[in-house]
Amino acid sequence: MKKKLILHPDTFLWIKGSKGLLYNASKYISDEFGISGGIGDICNKLLDYDNLYSVEIETDDLSKDVKNFIQLITSNYGAIQEIDSPYISLPPLLNLQHTEAKLSYLSSVTFYLGGKCETSDYYRQVVYPVNTEVHLSSKDIVKFLNTSRPSYPKRINLVVSDVTEYEYLKGIMKDLSFIKKNVVFYSLLTDKNKGMLTDLAKDFGYKFTFICRTCSVYDSTIEEMNRYGSFSLLILNDEDYSRWDNLTEGNAIGNYNMIPVYDNNIKFFEENIYLNKEDLKNIKLPKREVFAHQAINTNFFGDITVMPNGKVFSNVNFPSIGSLNDTLHEIINNEMKDSNAWRLLRDSGRCRKCLYQWLCPSISNYELVIGRNDLCRLPESKNASPTYAIKN
Ligand code: SF4
Repeated sequence: MKKKLILHPDTFLWIKGSKGLLYNASKYISDEFGISGGIGDICNKLLDYDNLYSVEIETDDLSKDVKNFIQLITSNYGAIQEIDSPYISLPPLLNLQHTEAKLSYLSSVTFYLGGKCETSDYYRQVVYPVNTEVHLSSKDIVKFLNTSRPSYPKRINLVVSDVTEYEYLKGIMKDLSFIKKNVVFYSLLTDKNKGMLTDLAKDFGYKFTFICRTCSVYDSTIEEMNRYGSFSLLILNDEDYSRWDNLTEGNAIGNYNMIPVYDNNIKFFEENIYLNKEDLKNIKLPKREVFAHQAINTNFFGDITVMPNGKVFSNVNFPSIGSLNDTLHEIINNEMKDSNAWRLLRDSGRCRKCLYQWLCPSISNYELVIGRNDLCRLPESKNASPTYAIKN
């Protein structure tokens, strides 16, 4: 008897070689299956847009594999209908019109103010002070931000290198007061600079994020700084994690983010950050976010960084896309035209051949810094090699 097998509009079907993946973006469930017997033929027909996500099935003449596959589909991903059923479905497809460059895509601008501090490359992964002689002037910052008038970036991050430059920082705070609610200052918190940071936070009433490295002096400091902002608690190993975990468990601090940092601690990353099969199985993405993964890098899209020398980046691990002499419009157009970080997709290396290509989180700075494009523990093919190297 002829029937119609139809996939729900919220179901994604992906095929890679001899394997397939079904993902239901409203129930957040997925199932892998092997392509054997007539399953490949059914999938090809389902994926043909003209067939409206359906395929005719002769139910009296089905192999065991196909029967199991149909059972899998009807359990969560689709339905069997009468051949003349008026029910139609459409595969979820990305609407490319929404990916045009627009100023409204801009979600944050991060200014590295510059100054002397301990040298570190952590800024390539997370917001972290840079060590430079040069500084950004508040005049240049304001001029640059004004190029997006009448609207302004929703979030403006200012990263302080040297808290002792009190007069310089005071000037910046005064000049940005017209946009104060959008601004967050970032500074490394140490026992030494705690007093000065408290004064700055108190005197001008800006929001702060205090970056905390692995150091034993924080326990009392953090509790006191709590009233002035939130915390980035950096984690390089298991001891850091236990330490911050104890601190946050005891409710000593309110708003915080625990942020892993790569510093040749690859074992820690492999054990704690790399995704395993279970993590992939538990990914819960609505349709909109699956589409986003297919079109943009959701970690980088919308973020602009300005370094103390005035060079502008869509990501500090990529070449510069302009300078403070350009307008924000020009900067965004350059980024969209050159397809740098904002469009960095999982479409190369082994990700390209992986069933989880569009469910997996977008490529992150960790991958760029480590020099890989796949932070997962899926078995690697023999000849797999790192795809990315840091670009300056
Ligand atoms: S990182 Fe790449 S290879 Fe690993 S699960 Fe994600 S898409 Fe697949």
